Amino acid sequence: MDRYIKFEPSKEPLYDTYDKDYMYLFNGSKLMVKLNDTEYIIPNKKDLELFKPQINHLQCLGAYKGINCYCGEIKESLGENYDFIDLRTYSKNISHDDFLVSAKALLLLDYIRNNQKCGICGSQMIVKISGNDRAMICSSCDNMVWPKTAPAIIVAITKEDKLLLAHNKMFQEGMYSVIAGFVEMGETFEDCVRREVFEETGIKVHNIKYFGSQPWPFPNSMMIGFTAEYLEGEIKVDNDEIVDAQWFTKEEIPGKYKKSISISTELIEWFLNK
Ligand SMILES: [Zn+2]
Repeated sequence: MDRYIKFEPSKEPLYDTYDKDYMYLFNGSKLMVKLNDTEYIIPNKKDLELFKPQINHLQCLGAYKGINCYCGEIKESLGENYDFIDLRTYSKNISHDDFLVSAKALLLLDYIRNNQKCGICGSQMIVKISGNDRAMICSSCDNMVWPKTAPAIIVAITKEDKLLLAHNKMFQEGMYSVIAGFVEMGETFEDCVRREVFEETGIKVHNIKYFGSQPWPFPNSMMIGFTAEYLEGEIKVDNDEIVDAQWFTKEEIPGKYKKSISISTELIEWFLNK
Protein backbone atom coordinates (compact mmCIF):
# COMPACT_ATOMS: atom_id res chain seq x y z
CA MET A 1 0.00 0.00 0.00
CA ASP A 2 1.25 3.46 -0.84
CA ARG A 3 2.11 5.56 2.20
CA TYR A 4 0.14 8.77 2.61
CA ILE A 5 3.24 10.50 4.02
CA LYS A 6 6.29 8.95 2.38
CA PHE A 7 8.88 11.05 4.17
CA GLU A 8 8.55 12.00 7.86
CA PRO A 9 11.07 14.71 8.83
CA SER A 10 12.63 14.25 12.26
CA LYS A 11 15.80 15.20 14.10
CA GLU A 12 15.63 11.90 15.99
CA PRO A 13 15.30 8.38 14.52
CA LEU A 14 11.63 7.39 14.35
CA TYR A 15 11.87 3.63 13.88
CA ASP A 16 13.89 0.72 15.20
CA THR A 17 15.45 -0.04 11.81
CA TYR A 18 19.07 0.21 12.88
CA ASP A 19 20.78 -2.09 10.33
CA LYS A 20 18.64 -0.85 7.47
CA ASP A 21 19.01 2.87 8.22
CA TYR A 22 19.92 4.70 5.00
CA MET A 23 23.20 6.64 5.10
CA TYR A 24 23.30 9.53 2.60
CA LEU A 25 26.98 10.42 2.80
CA PHE A 26 28.59 13.03 0.60
CA ASN A 27 32.11 13.92 -0.42
CA GLY A 28 31.63 17.56 -1.48
CA SER A 29 28.29 17.31 -3.29
CA LYS A 30 28.84 13.76 -4.52
CA LEU A 31 26.78 11.00 -2.98
CA MET A 32 28.35 7.72 -1.88
CA VAL A 33 26.55 4.78 -3.48
CA LYS A 34 27.07 1.05 -3.38
CA LEU A 35 27.51 -0.37 -6.86
CA ASN A 36 25.38 -3.17 -8.11
CA ASP A 37 25.15 -4.51 -11.68
CA THR A 38 22.10 -2.49 -12.57
CA GLU A 39 21.56 0.18 -9.94
CA TYR A 40 23.03 2.49 -7.34
CA ILE A 41 22.17 1.57 -3.77
CA ILE A 42 22.25 3.86 -0.73
CA PRO A 43 24.51 2.21 1.87
CA ASN A 44 22.90 1.28 5.17
CA LYS A 45 24.34 1.35 8.68
CA LYS A 46 25.35 -2.29 8.49
CA ASP A 47 27.47 -1.65 5.38
CA LEU A 48 29.35 1.07 7.23
CA GLU A 49 30.03 -1.03 10.32
CA LEU A 50 32.66 -3.00 8.42
CA PHE A 51 34.64 0.13 7.65
CA LYS A 52 33.88 2.49 10.54
CA PRO A 53 34.69 5.58 8.42
CA GLN A 54 34.88 9.04 9.91
CA ILE A 55 31.61 10.89 9.29
CA ASN A 56 31.29 14.64 9.86
CA HIS A 57 28.10 16.60 10.53
CA LEU A 58 26.01 13.44 10.93
CA GLN A 59 22.31 14.34 11.17
CA CYS A 60 19.10 12.36 11.24
CA LEU A 61 16.86 13.50 8.39
CA GLY A 62 13.74 11.57 9.36
CA ALA A 63 12.31 8.40 7.90
CA TYR A 64 11.56 7.38 4.31
CA LYS A 65 8.88 4.72 3.92
CA GLY A 66 9.45 3.71 7.54
CA ILE A 67 13.27 3.56 7.47
CA ASN A 68 15.44 6.14 9.25
CA CYS A 69 17.69 8.27 7.05
CA TYR A 70 20.89 10.10 7.95
CA CYS A 71 23.09 12.53 6.11
CA GLY A 72 26.73 13.35 6.69
CA GLU A 73 30.07 14.07 5.13
CA ILE A 74 32.62 11.37 4.35
CA LYS A 75 36.09 11.97 2.95
CA GLU A 76 37.28 8.46 2.13
CA SER A 77 35.99 5.90 -0.32
CA LEU A 78 34.96 2.55 1.12
CA GLY A 79 36.60 0.55 -1.65
CA GLU A 80 35.85 -0.80 -5.07
CA ASN A 81 32.19 -1.60 -4.44
CA TYR A 82 31.48 2.04 -3.69
CA ASP A 83 31.56 5.20 -5.73
CA PHE A 84 30.78 8.91 -5.39
CA ILE A 85 28.32 10.25 -7.98
CA ASP A 86 26.56 13.58 -8.44
CA LEU A 87 22.81 13.70 -7.82
CA ARG A 88 21.99 14.33 -11.50
CA THR A 89 23.64 11.01 -12.37
CA TYR A 90 21.97 9.32 -9.39
CA SER A 91 18.58 10.70 -10.50
CA LYS A 92 18.67 8.92 -13.85
CA ASN A 93 17.62 5.45 -12.74
CA ILE A 94 15.58 6.05 -9.61
CA SER A 95 12.07 7.20 -8.73
CA HIS A 96 11.28 10.85 -8.19
CA ASP A 97 10.62 10.10 -4.50
CA ASP A 98 14.06 8.50 -4.11
CA PHE A 99 15.61 11.55 -5.76
CA LEU A 100 13.84 13.89 -3.34
CA VAL A 101 15.30 12.05 -0.31
CA SER A 102 18.82 12.43 -1.72
CA ALA A 103 18.04 16.11 -2.35
CA LYS A 104 16.88 16.58 1.26
CA ALA A 105 20.09 14.93 2.48
CA LEU A 106 22.35 17.22 0.43
CA LEU A 107 20.32 20.33 1.32
CA LEU A 108 20.54 19.62 5.06
CA LEU A 109 24.24 18.76 4.95
CA ASP A 110 25.03 21.90 2.91
CA TYR A 111 23.05 24.02 5.35
CA ILE A 112 25.09 22.64 8.29
CA ARG A 113 28.42 22.93 6.42
CA ASN A 114 27.71 26.48 5.21
CA ASN A 115 26.68 27.87 8.59
CA GLN A 116 29.63 26.91 10.77
CA LYS A 117 30.37 30.51 11.76
CA CYS A 118 27.99 33.16 13.04
CA GLY A 119 27.26 35.89 10.48
CA ILE A 120 27.10 38.49 13.27
CA CYS A 121 30.02 37.75 15.61
CA GLY A 122 31.99 35.04 13.79
CA SER A 123 31.81 32.48 16.64
CA GLN A 124 31.11 28.77 16.19
CA MET A 125 27.50 27.86 15.34
CA ILE A 126 26.00 24.68 16.76
CA VAL A 127 22.97 22.61 15.78
CA LYS A 128 20.05 23.46 18.08
CA ILE A 129 18.97 20.26 19.82
CA SER A 130 15.63 21.32 21.32
CA GLY A 131 12.43 21.70 19.31
CA ASN A 132 11.54 20.31 15.89
CA ASP A 133 13.08 23.09 13.84
CA ARG A 134 16.43 22.81 12.08
CA ALA A 135 17.91 25.94 13.59
CA MET A 136 21.59 26.54 14.20
CA ILE A 137 22.50 28.77 17.10
CA CYS A 138 25.59 30.84 17.82
CA SER A 139 27.63 29.58 20.80
CA SER A 140 28.40 33.17 21.76
CA CYS A 141 25.63 35.66 20.82
CA ASP A 142 22.58 33.33 20.46
CA ASN A 143 22.02 34.40 16.83
CA MET A 144 19.84 31.76 15.17
CA VAL A 145 19.67 30.78 11.50
CA TRP A 146 17.30 28.45 9.66
CA PRO A 147 17.63 26.68 6.32
CA LYS A 148 17.12 29.02 3.36
CA THR A 149 15.64 28.12 0.00
CA ALA A 150 15.96 30.18 -3.18
CA PRO A 151 12.62 29.96 -5.04
CA ALA A 152 12.61 30.01 -8.83
CA ILE A 153 9.63 29.96 -11.18
CA ILE A 154 9.43 27.76 -14.25
CA VAL A 155 6.63 28.22 -16.76
CA ALA A 156 5.14 26.57 -19.85
CA ILE A 157 3.56 29.26 -22.07
CA THR A 158 1.08 28.19 -24.71
CA LYS A 159 -0.29 30.05 -27.73
CA GLU A 160 -3.10 28.05 -29.35
CA ASP A 161 -1.42 24.78 -30.41
CA LYS A 162 2.14 25.95 -29.72
CA LEU A 163 4.54 26.03 -26.77
CA LEU A 164 7.20 28.69 -26.17
CA LEU A 165 10.65 27.18 -25.74
CA ALA A 166 13.91 29.02 -25.34
CA HIS A 167 17.55 28.20 -25.97
CA ASN A 168 19.79 29.33 -23.14
CA LYS A 169 23.42 30.01 -24.07
CA MET A 170 24.43 27.36 -21.48
CA PHE A 171 22.44 24.64 -23.30
CA GLN A 172 23.79 22.19 -25.82
CA GLU A 173 23.35 23.26 -29.45
CA GLY A 174 19.78 22.76 -30.66
CA MET A 175 18.31 22.13 -27.21
CA TYR A 176 15.41 24.13 -25.76
CA SER A 177 13.47 24.39 -22.53
CA VAL A 178 10.69 26.33 -20.84
CA ILE A 179 11.37 29.71 -19.24
CA ALA A 180 12.73 29.82 -15.68
CA GLY A 181 14.16 32.41 -13.33
CA PHE A 182 14.80 33.26 -9.70
CA VAL A 183 12.18 35.06 -7.61
CA GLU A 184 13.39 38.45 -6.39
CA MET A 185 13.07 39.32 -2.69
CA GLY A 186 9.56 40.58 -1.95
CA GLU A 187 8.17 39.38 -5.30
CA THR A 188 5.12 37.13 -5.75
CA PHE A 189 5.53 34.02 -7.89
CA GLU A 190 2.99 35.37 -10.39
CA ASP A 191 4.80 38.71 -10.72
CA CYS A 192 8.02 36.78 -11.21
CA VAL A 193 6.44 34.74 -14.03
CA ARG A 194 5.33 37.95 -15.77
CA ARG A 195 8.69 39.68 -15.29
CA GLU A 196 10.98 36.78 -16.24
CA VAL A 197 9.02 35.91 -19.37
CA PHE A 198 8.86 39.54 -20.46
CA GLU A 199 12.56 40.22 -19.72
CA GLU A 200 13.82 37.10 -21.44
CA THR A 201 11.48 36.87 -24.44
CA GLY A 202 9.45 40.12 -24.73
CA ILE A 203 6.17 38.15 -24.40
CA LYS A 204 3.29 39.13 -22.07
CA VAL A 205 1.24 36.31 -20.51
CA HIS A 206 -2.02 35.79 -18.58
CA ASN A 207 -4.05 32.96 -17.02
CA ILE A 208 -1.07 31.95 -14.87
CA LYS A 209 -1.90 28.66 -13.15
CA TYR A 210 0.02 26.65 -10.58
CA PHE A 211 1.38 23.37 -11.96
CA GLY A 212 3.57 21.81 -9.25
CA SER A 213 6.87 22.20 -7.43
CA GLN A 214 10.22 20.51 -7.13
CA PRO A 215 13.07 20.98 -4.67
CA TRP A 216 16.26 21.40 -6.67
CA PRO A 217 19.44 21.01 -4.60
CA PHE A 218 21.83 22.66 -7.09
CA PRO A 219 22.57 24.29 -4.70
CA ASN A 220 19.37 25.19 -2.79
CA SER A 221 16.47 26.08 -5.08
CA MET A 222 12.79 25.28 -5.08
CA MET A 223 11.28 25.25 -8.56
CA ILE A 224 7.66 26.42 -8.63
CA GLY A 225 6.02 25.37 -11.89
CA PHE A 226 3.25 27.25 -13.72
CA THR A 227 1.39 27.18 -16.97
CA ALA A 228 0.39 30.44 -18.66
CA GLU A 229 -1.17 31.63 -21.90
CA TYR A 230 0.17 34.09 -24.43
CA LEU A 231 -1.39 37.54 -24.13
CA GLU A 232 0.54 39.81 -26.52
CA GLY A 233 3.96 40.76 -27.86
CA GLU A 234 6.52 39.56 -30.38
CA ILE A 235 9.45 37.34 -29.40
CA LYS A 236 12.50 39.45 -28.65
CA VAL A 237 15.14 37.53 -26.69
CA ASP A 238 17.37 39.24 -24.14
CA ASN A 239 20.55 37.85 -25.77
CA ASP A 240 22.00 37.71 -22.28
CA GLU A 241 20.81 34.32 -21.03
CA ILE A 242 18.37 33.48 -23.82
CA VAL A 243 19.74 33.57 -27.35
CA ASP A 244 16.75 32.06 -29.19
CA ALA A 245 13.07 31.46 -28.45
CA GLN A 246 10.38 30.05 -30.69
CA TRP A 247 6.81 28.73 -30.70
CA PHE A 248 6.85 24.99 -31.34
CA THR A 249 4.03 22.61 -32.25
CA LYS A 250 3.83 19.18 -30.59
CA GLU A 251 5.33 17.55 -33.66
CA GLU A 252 8.37 19.83 -33.61
CA ILE A 253 9.32 19.30 -29.95
CA PRO A 254 10.65 15.70 -29.65
CA GLY A 255 14.44 15.71 -29.78
CA LYS A 256 14.65 19.40 -28.87
CA TYR A 257 14.61 18.98 -25.08
CA LYS A 258 16.68 17.00 -22.64
CA LYS A 259 14.60 14.43 -20.76
CA SER A 260 15.43 14.43 -17.07
CA ILE A 261 13.88 14.12 -13.63
CA SER A 262 13.38 17.91 -13.57
CA ILE A 263 10.03 19.67 -13.60
CA SER A 264 10.95 21.25 -16.97
CA THR A 265 10.53 17.80 -18.55
CA GLU A 266 7.17 17.40 -16.76
CA LEU A 267 5.97 20.76 -18.11
CA ILE A 268 7.01 20.00 -21.70
CA GLU A 269 5.41 16.55 -21.50
CA TRP A 270 2.24 18.08 -20.03
CA PHE A 271 2.00 20.12 -23.25
CA LEU A 272 2.82 17.12 -25.48
CA ASN A 273 0.03 15.11 -23.81
CA LYS A 274 -2.52 17.92 -23.83
ZN1 LIG B 1 27.28 35.10 17.11
